Amino acid sequence: MDYESFYRQSIEQPEAFWAEQAQRIHWETPPTQILDQSNPPFRRWFVGGTTNLCYNAVDRHLAERAEQLALVAISSETGVTREFSYRQLHREVNTFAAVLQALDVGKGDRVVIYLPNIAEAVFAMLACARIGAIHSVVFGGFAAHNLALRIDDAQPKLLIAADAGMRGGKVIPYKPLVDAALNEASAPPPRVLLVDRGLDPQMIRVPKRDVDYAELRAKHETAEVPVVWLESNEPSYLLYTSGTTGKPKGVQRDTGGYAVAMALSIRTVFDIAPGQVMFSTSDVGWAVGHSYNVYGPLIGGATSLLYEGLPTRPDPGVWWQLCEQYGVRTMFSSPTAIRVLKKQDAHWLKDHDLSALKWLFLAGEPLDEPTAQWITDALGVPVIDNYWQTETGWPAITLMPGLDLKPTKIGSPGLPAPGYRMKVIDEGTGKEVPAGSKGVLVLEPPLPPGCLSTIWRDDDRYVYSYFSHFRELLYSSLDWAIRDADGYTFILGRTDDVINVAGHRLGTREIEESVAGHPAVAEAAVIGVKDAIKGQVPIVFATLKQDAGVAADAARGMQQCVVDQLGGVAKPSRVYVVNALPKTRSGKLLRRSLQALAEQRDPGDLSTLDDPSALDEIRRALARGPDQGS
Ligand code: ATP
Ligand code: MG
Repeated sequence: MDYESFYRQSIEQPEAFWAEQAQRIHWETPPTQILDQSNPPFRRWFVGGTTNLCYNAVDRHLAERAEQLALVAISSETGVTREFSYRQLHREVNTFAAVLQALDVGKGDRVVIYLPNIAEAVFAMLACARIGAIHSVVFGGFAAHNLALRIDDAQPKLLIAADAGMRGGKVIPYKPLVDAALNEASAPPPRVLLVDRGLDPQMIRVPKRDVDYAELRAKHETAEVPVVWLESNEPSYLLYTSGTTGKPKGVQRDTGGYAVAMALSIRTVFDIAPGQVMFSTSDVGWAVGHSYNVYGPLIGGATSLLYEGLPTRPDPGVWWQLCEQYGVRTMFSSPTAIRVLKKQDAHWLKDHDLSALKWLFLAGEPLDEPTAQWITDALGVPVIDNYWQTETGWPAITLMPGLDLKPTKIGSPGLPAPGYRMKVIDEGTGKEVPAGSKGVLVLEPPLPPGCLSTIWRDDDRYVYSYFSHFRELLYSSLDWAIRDADGYTFILGRTDDVINVAGHRLGTREIEESVAGHPAVAEAAVIGVKDAIKGQVPIVFATLKQDAGVAADAARGMQQCVVDQLGGVAKPSRVYVVNALPKTRSGKLLRRSLQALAEQRDPGDLSTLDDPSALDEIRRALARGPDQGS
């Protein structure tokens, strides 16, 4: 079918369209109503239908593809590859589900999963889904404070953690971070389940609270755990955004709508049919990991590759070697990862037989032209930029090679995905802007299946954060965009203050809070500046309190505060101690001017600036060089 009629039907006859798409998953009882829009901006898809994500991802395939590979977990860090057929995956998931039950986890309970990219992360997620428990996977690179925030918001019954992760050959113990987070948290779970990989022999267990997975696994090796059927709108999982306001938002996903969105997108967007192989290089802790390492490919009956390690170790050919070995058809990665590989010689790609590889999808940040061009030339396959958010759970703007591939335009992720009622509107008037003009990218409700249903236990925040920006009830993406005459959308950046460091989303406000926690600091502004490798890096401008002592010492201390509270990914690459920060008359920091100066651009409209001499102070600091970093 051609894209235009497919998309048009999804917008003009949403109920008929989604009723048909819903046939691609198993419903224990079919929905009685396809769409309930009686309480906008909330909406409910497939009302009354009961289903289960784990059943659709695993059990459903046993009849036809029990011996086919379902999951391949590769670690270039430990050098171990583990392969699981659908039958073996079913076995592992049943055992894991029995262990969860033994630890008193049941329907509706939250489980925080703090694991590296290993097979147990997938088992744990699917086991939660099987028994109707709500998982909240927290990216393993987050430090204790971040983990504690997410624990307190979700109030889990159980936390699942590993002894350690590994990165670049170095063991990174997780357990001390877990212990620190549980100390800090006001709602720590009563039990901790430990996946001991044997990486940290010094791991300390807290008696009564901590249990070893291996021990319980042995007890439940043959357990069969019945699937718990959930009403389509019951929550399946939470996934926290990085959050610009300090407190992260718990994006809540439903069950039936998400399953249908996965079944649709794996086929029509990612062009993956049952039995084919998908390789997403994401961490399970991100939205891409949830949707295209776990639920999408497995609901689609495909083989999913999960990778722990760097793209350059043991050598820069490691991903391409995996593509060759497993016959990967669709690969999914990020522009940052490709920029890292771009520094290497193209022979690392060309030495491998990549004849099975059809598509490379890249998402998460703007795809710059040189990177797109380099990888397209090196691979000889189309590179598909796609735009989405943690909130949407699947691409909102993309091309759909599984349906009908439209021409690519470099710099644009393409066209709206089915069900997305997309507009670009004027920030002030809320009216649609003409083709070629910049505006805010918004979605008209109802949001399609798969997109968030609310923010965990905070419906008000859901409405306030996303639907309160314009007079009309519209979902704001908080991104600037331009639509061209052919309907292709170009993303121009954020309307808020989030920066992207090597694919990790960081709220500048969060880093500011952390820096401001240093006793010497009076006030701090954090901005992201362009970096050739990481995309962006955070830099700090701070004023010191009186008698704060030596500027360089304070600057070093600020860096350390961020590392301790937010993790190494958030570490400011430069800290400038200054006498004043540029502010508006209403007292708001003018980050865009700071950023312009730091990137040697024109600081732009200064009409709102309170004291123009503050900019000279920033110029002087930049010329002099940072007090910490380089
Ligand atoms: P938070 O919402 O917590 O502040 P975040 O918005 O950084 O964090 P994500 O949901 O992972 O977290 O990122 C979505 C954002 O990433 C989009 O809103 C957009 O700014 C950017 N983005 C994603 N894909 C693309 C793309 N293909 N091109 C340009 N920008 C993209
Ligand atoms: Mg966002």
